[in-house]
Amino acid sequence: MKLNIKDKFNKELPADPILENSRRQVSEACFSFVTPKITAKPELLHVSHEMLENLGLSKTDTTSEEFLNIFTGNKVLENTTPYAMCYGGHQFGNWAGQLGDGRAINLCEVEHNGKNWALQLKGAGETPYSRNADGLAVLRSSIREYLCSEAMFHLGVPTTRALSLALSGDQVLRDVMYDGNSAYEKGAIVCRTAESFLRFGNYQIFAARQDDVNLKHLVDYTIKHHFSHLGKPSKATYIEFFKEVTNRTLEMIVHWQRVGFVHGVMNTDNMSILGLTIDYGPYGWLEGFDFGWTPNTTDRQHKRYRYGNQPNIGLWNLLQLANALYPLIEDAAPLEAILNQYKTDFESKSFEMMKSKLGLFETVDNDEYLIKDLEENLQLVETDMTIFFRNLSDFKDEDTGFEVLKNAFYDFDNMSSDIKEKWELWFLNYQVRLQQEFTTHQERKAKMNAVNPKYVLRNYMAQLAIDDADKGNYRLIDELFQMLKKPYDEQQEYQKWFTKRPDWARDKVGCSMLSCSS
Ligand code: AMP
Ligand code: MG
Repeated sequence: MKLNIKDKFNKELPADPILENSRRQVSEACFSFVTPKITAKPELLHVSHEMLENLGLSKTDTTSEEFLNIFTGNKVLENTTPYAMCYGGHQFGNWAGQLGDGRAINLCEVEHNGKNWALQLKGAGETPYSRNADGLAVLRSSIREYLCSEAMFHLGVPTTRALSLALSGDQVLRDVMYDGNSAYEKGAIVCRTAESFLRFGNYQIFAARQDDVNLKHLVDYTIKHHFSHLGKPSKATYIEFFKEVTNRTLEMIVHWQRVGFVHGVMNTDNMSILGLTIDYGPYGWLEGFDFGWTPNTTDRQHKRYRYGNQPNIGLWNLLQLANALYPLIEDAAPLEAILNQYKTDFESKSFEMMKSKLGLFETVDNDEYLIKDLEENLQLVETDMTIFFRNLSDFKDEDTGFEVLKNAFYDFDNMSSDIKEKWELWFLNYQVRLQQEFTTHQERKAKMNAVNPKYVLRNYMAQLAIDDADKGNYRLIDELFQMLKKPYDEQQEYQKWFTKRPDWARDKVGCSMLSCSS
């Protein structure tokens, strides 16, 4: 196996001088060297062939013992020194101090075709940042991360990716719903990849410790390797840097809103500096369209990270990043201006996004009312977001509106006449509005189908793959993986997955209720 290893993070940034793998506060360092844990009986379950290619590897590489051993942490690649990153973060709105890679170990960085890929094992054992946990991951959460990160990539959403999914052969003790019912589960390891895994929290930790020297070191490093188009570090460059992180974060969240993805734990340690979706934990996909929905049971009370609040939380998190960068800039005005611009941009970008979902491309007055009415209607009775928007591309006129969209409603037969009227009015308005477009129906349909996915990783689908995998059957992981590579295509062979959540999944743990336990 030949990888073009080009380590930078652990070569150019300050390392923790202590090599012992003990839990501790690590100051004046960006990371600690650490060796992955030897596993009992590693077994490869799935590999992303596209990620292999991205790294300059081929399918035959995956059949070697070496591949298995390296991507489960049982062997360290020659000339590499694995490490865990030090970061802090705000969790659920409160500063939590040092967090760090508690169950992630970076192997190395690889350069291929002009791209940088950091390779990281999730669940490969404890690190100085493991606090009171074991550094391991279970199969259930590993399948969820593996499938979803690749699915998001194919949906066109900026994201970290995944190379491989493996069983460790170890048993891992977890209390899934935090109710005192611990049980052993299969341990697993995902090798995930990204240009960089840097998070807002990596900068925040230095700012919190008033360590401006290392803060500057890390920001300069980030600009040099990941934002080099911004030029040499200076106060002006730092402002531009913050502006670009803001824009990327906004863009990512608008994509989330478009496809109905709810991250579930938008803590600042889970916000990528590159604007990538990162840390797939208790995330979920909207089934019924509902701004108030969150999949994360830990957040059930306040619903801080609910679907409709993601844009606001993005802004709140960016404010924390601005505070962290302030010592390097010493001028609040430009940072405030960027944050204010986020609010304006968010309005205009989500408006454009919603217009594209409706197949509206001309600029016409009152579209905001058409969209607002639609969002209200969608929440009157349980209405499947994915099916609704996908089928909307078949909408021709008011008279056949229900025929085309009926399938999106959970209980169409019992819809009240009041609600039916509201929909009929909306259909009429939409029909009238469509007459102001210059595209043919076929053109509109093609454009709408390119932004409204037919297939997303509904929570119950991931759970079915998990239930099978627990019994040793991994076929469904591959089926979903293959299907989610082309989420916008019709793929008749997968039609059975273009359906509303079945009733059994409504209140099932893993489907509608998820916790951070992974
Ligand atoms: P998360 O909510 O997954 O973003 O995790 C928050 C923090 O807890 C991060 O610093 C993680 O590294 C750490 N963490 C979560 N689960 C574990 C685990 N099983 N072992 C060690 N650290 C963990
Ligand atoms: Mg995290």
